[in-house]
This record gives sequence, C-alpha cells and structure tokens, in this order.
Amino acid sequence: MDSIDTLIIGAGALGLACAARLASPQRSTLVVEAEKLIGSHTSSRNSEVIHAGLYYAPGSLKAELCLEGRERLYAWCAQQQVAHRRIGKLLVAVSAAEHSQLDALAQNAAACGVHDLQALSQARLQRLEPALRGVAALLSPSTGIIDSHAYLQSLLAAAEQRGAQLVLQTRVDRLETDGDGWIASGSSAGEPFRLRAQRVVNAGGLFAQQLAQHTAGLASAQIPPLHLCQGRYFSYSGRSPFQHLIYPLPEANAAGLGIHATLDLAGQLRFGPDTRYLDSLDYRVDEQLREPFAAAIRRYYPGLDGARLAPGYSGIRPKLAGIGEPPADFLIQSPAAHGLPGLVNLFGIESPGLTASLAIAERVAQAL
Ligand SMILES: Cc1cc2nc3c(=O)[nH]c(=O)nc-3n(C[C@H](O)[C@H](O)[C@H](O)COP(=O)(O)OP(=O)(O)OC[C@H]3O[C@@H](n4cnc5c(N)ncnc54)[C@H](O)[C@@H]3O)c2cc1C
Repeated sequence: MDSIDTLIIGAGALGLACAARLASPQRSTLVVEAEKLIGSHTSSRNSEVIHAGLYYAPGSLKAELCLEGRERLYAWCAQQQVAHRRIGKLLVAVSAAEHSQLDALAQNAAACGVHDLQALSQARLQRLEPALRGVAALLSPSTGIIDSHAYLQSLLAAAEQRGAQLVLQTRVDRLETDGDGWIASGSSAGEPFRLRAQRVVNAGGLFAQQLAQHTAGLASAQIPPLHLCQGRYFSYSGRSPFQHLIYPLPEANAAGLGIHATLDLAGQLRFGPDTRYLDSLDYRVDEQLREPFAAAIRRYYPGLDGARLAPGYSGIRPKLAGIGEPPADFLIQSPAAHGLPGLVNLFGIESPGLTASLAIAERVAQAL
C-alpha cells in the first residue's frame, strides 16, 4: 500500500487552498477529486465576490475568517496575478423602513471589524448609479470580484510547485485508522485503491458529511446535519447599467443575501442567487423563475427589461442550518474536537467560503 504524509479529499477552493498551504517538498501531499475537473461543484457555482464581511455574527468564524481571508485573498491575487477587481458594492435601501436596517447592518459590520463603509444619501446614490432606485445606501469599497477559475488554478499551481499531486476521478469512500495514521479506500478511474496517510483533510463540500459517516471512529454526534440550499442565477444580456455590485437588504429568513446584481471581470451582469432548500442535488434553473426574479430586481432597478434575463447556472450551499433556523457558523472540526489524530473535517463551508478559503487553510494547518 502506498503511504503519504497528507491526503486532501476534494479539489474545490478549500481542498486546493489547504493543499497550497500544507504541501512541502518534505511532506508528500495528494489531492483526490471525485470529478473529472477541479472545482466541479460549489467553487465554480457562486457569485465570485470577495466579501467585505458585513453580515456575519460578530465573533463568529465566518466574520473572523472572512476579514482575514479577504486580505489574504487580495494579497494572493496580486502576487499570483489572479484577475480580480476591488469594484465596491452598494447595499441599497428602497424604503424608509429599510433605511433603519442599513444602520443596523453598518453597526454589525463595525462590530465585525469592517470600518470602511460609507453611508450614501439618495442624491449621492443617484449620481453614482442613475439606474438604481433607492432612498439610501451603504458603499463597501473593500468588496471585490475574482475570477474563481483562475484562483483555483493558481492554488493548484502553488500546491504542485510545493510537490503536491492531484488525481482526478478518484473518490474516497471510507477512512479507517490503523493506529499509525489513516487508511483511505475508494475507487480511482473505476479501480479500487487503498492508501495510507498520516494526515487527512476532508474538504468534500456537499459530500463532507457522507464521507464523515464512513469515517471509522467518528461519533455520529460529531457529524452535523446537511441542508442543501440551492441558489439560482439569471444572466442579463446587454451592457450592464451598473458600475458596482448592487445588493438589496438580506433576506428576512437569513438564508441568502437577496437577489443581487454582480458583474464578472468581463463586465457580464448576472442576478441571483435566490434560496431554495432541496432534498437532493439539482442544478437546474427553471425558465419560469424569470417573473419572480424580475419582480425582485425591479424593487431596486425599476427599468429592468425582463426579456434580457435568461436562466443561468446555480450552486448549492452546504448549510448546517435548516429552514427557519438561525444561521450556522463554519465548522472546522479538528482532532481536539473529535479526538481522532491527524484528521480535519470541513463542514458547512457556504458563503463566504471562497473569500475565507486561505484563512480556513491556515486554521487547518494549525489544527494539524
Ligand atoms: C450560490 C452560491 C453563491 C456563493 N457566492 C459566494 C461568493 O460570492 N463569495 C464567497 O466567498 N463565497 C461564495 N459562496 C461560497 C463558496 O462558493 C464555497 O464556500 C466554496 O466554493 C466551497 O468550496 P469547497 O472546496 O468547500 O467545496 P466544493 O467546491 O464543492 O469542493 C468539494 C469537492 O470535493 C469533491 N469530493 C467530495 N467528496 C469527495 C470524496 N469522497 N472523494 C473525492 N472527492 C470528493 C467534490 O467533487 C468537490 O469537487 C457561494 C456559494 C453558493 C452555493
């Protein structure tokens, strides 16, 4: 049986960030990915926003790691020449009632350590974004956008440069301990395999709980419930009417940030994501959603021509909280938490996971 130092399961942003952080010429590191391509699930199905960290509960991992991750990510992008832009985001109140919610959000952001928000009057908002309808807004200058595919490639390149190897179409089905590390078994391109590793990171995203259920010695009480929450996008054909990212107030159920407008680095505008809890993976985006999407968008962009909207893509959030439950934090489950040496499980890495990925990788390195 082959023996390595570090096995990372999953080649999304988290697995690759961990690989880039943990790999070294002295420690053999293998990243295994069940799909044919890296980033086949959530890491290629998101808004590609570098979040400033406004919304999360002060003191939570989401708040802390979003801020730390954002700074690490901007530095990484500059150093590794990953396309990105500090485009800025406007959080728009469309009524007097929403105005007071803006104040509450600004206070929350300050408690999280975000001190660069600017309150905009209606007149200033109109000057900045004439197509918008709003009574007031907050401008977040440190919010940005990133080419997430280029980011994943840069992480892989850094990991490989430090000696890591990636194997695609390779799924780990089971983890067992033999007292001297972990034995991973599964299938690789249809052939069974077994491998011994001293350290294992379960960065399986939507499938992390499934692997945890097949991890010998891990008590079921240590495996948090998984709630699949789809977020669907519509693309907008034509020139963007906006220069910034445009966000309404977050949804009352706190499951999503509201159907917002994001631009990619090519200037393409898209709207979304919405929130829809699922029983099983389903990435389809129904054409019939056009009207509800258009209605949500017209609250802040009354001039929208609905015919310009077309079903885009969707992503699925690996939530730890179900419908109506308060938002759950990231769970970076270390040996100190579950009592199994050399294993870290990453659970519930929904937004802002892309932003926080380098900071989470740092925590994983500390935990191991
Ligand atoms: C709609 C939506 C919008 C979002 N927008 C943003 C945003 O704008 N900004 C932001 O910061 N974050 C955002 N996020 C969150 C961000 O996309 C995720 O936190 C991040 O991509 C999670 O990465 P991951 O590596 O944990 O998961 P994934 O990218 O899903 O990677 C996990 C990988 O593990 C593989 N795998 C699973 N099990 C096994 C196994 N047993 N063996 C081998 N391989 C396995 C899977 O095939 C998969 O490729 C958004 C998420 C969604 C759903």
